[in-house]
Amino acid sequence: ASAAMPAKTGGGEGDKTGEEDDKDDKAAQSLLNKLIRSNLVNTTNQVEVLQRDPNSPLYSVKSFEELRLKPQLLQGVYAMGFNRPSKIQENALPMMLAEPPQNLIAQSQSGTGKTAAFVLAMLSHVDPNNKFPQALCVSPTYELALQTGKVIEQMGKHYSEVKLVYAIRGNKLQRGTQLQEQVVIGTPGTMLDWCLKFKFIDPKKIKVFVLDEADVMIATQGHQDQSIRIQRMLPKECQMLLFSATFEETVWNFAQRIVPEPNIIKLKREEETLDTIKQYYVLCNSKEEKFMALCNIYGAITIAQAMIFCHTRKTAGWLAGELSREGHQVALLSGEMQVEQRAAVIDRFRDGKEKVLVTTNVCARGIDVEQVSVVINFDLPVDRDGNPDNETYLHRIGRTGRFGKRGLAINMVDSRFSMNILNKIQDHFNKKIEKLDTDDLDEIE
Ligand code: ADP
Repeated sequence: ASAAMPAKTGGGEGDKTGEEDDKDDKAAQSLLNKLIRSNLVNTTNQVEVLQRDPNSPLYSVKSFEELRLKPQLLQGVYAMGFNRPSKIQENALPMMLAEPPQNLIAQSQSGTGKTAAFVLAMLSHVDPNNKFPQALCVSPTYELALQTGKVIEQMGKHYSEVKLVYAIRGNKLQRGTQLQEQVVIGTPGTMLDWCLKFKFIDPKKIKVFVLDEADVMIATQGHQDQSIRIQRMLPKECQMLLFSATFEETVWNFAQRIVPEPNIIKLKREEETLDTIKQYYVLCNSKEEKFMALCNIYGAITIAQAMIFCHTRKTAGWLAGELSREGHQVALLSGEMQVEQRAAVIDRFRDGKEKVLVTTNVCARGIDVEQVSVVINFDLPVDRDGNPDNETYLHRIGRTGRFGKRGLAINMVDSRFSMNILNKIQDHFNKKIEKLDTDDLDEIE
């Protein structure tokens, strides 16, 4: 598949509400994860499959050959370096490629192979001899649509008769255009306009409809309605597919409105545990003292790579400066950076070009840097209301059972308020956090 890339347009940004911030945050995290990921995430959990028709046999495949893909697509799969289907693909692919096509709602954390799966399904179901749109995919943002578009182009590299077009802002077509491309990827607003207002797409001819990142999608009110309006224009026999990394009640309700008579596939995310982590806290009176304590720790033990979390951009910037002055190679991850810049910083850190990564809480949520053995909470994680953020604490320092190496977590406490937070975190996980005397550090190695 090939496509002309639209020119990038600058979007005017007005004042943002908290809700929009949340949505931006989710979409940015998702994009960041896509940019830094080059592999499938490991998982030992079993896929849960709920078939619409429990009497039909449950197919699963262990190889791509079993799927009888078009040779051009199989070539695309190999060109991407895939040897065998991922956990979720083992079940999702036969279901999506079945005749007659099956509807599917699938949930698994990012990095488990969902995108690759639905891209294969879309490319398999379109007929290159028909010069009109047959597969639509909606994504929550411009950037995410571009990323998915790239996967379609890569996977379809050897299938050049199939063409792709981007239904995103900035891609302005002449009135009266009839699209020749078989696959359309875009955001809900533009996609709806192209179907309804401009009639570039005849929705009655669509065979596959994909809604990606449903959890990010519903964070924007308008997107939910627009997606449902697109879905209602599609023929009854159109295959409907919906994907999400998480599955709260709201996502589930939305999914059921988009996908009638669904098969359901779920893959639990790997549990994180604090069992293999040694947790300490250090008592200080100010951020300067916290910095001194940090220097003492660095003087006493060998730290291959560490991540240090701060509450504000200001503290993170200050700390990164102080550490550099001490001669450390420091990488700084901060909220004002573009997602692409953040991805570049994380990549460098992963490659070991820097040994310390200083970051704000928000920035690094959901990032896995496996080789990091020391995590320092320069500020403890709290939510917007100032309550302990247990989930973030766990995700930051926790390891997944089988893959996790032993780790060390050091929490800096500088007030009664933060001592209180620490105690609550300790109670929540029922795991002792020991006091560390930074003038006498023999105990921690
Ligand atoms: P998700 O959509 O669930 O986030 P992706 O489809 O983007 O997951 O896959 C995550 C990463 O793993 C991507 O880099 C992708 O190229 C790669 N990948 C996907 N499927 C396979 C596979 N079967 N074998 C090897 N790598 C894969």
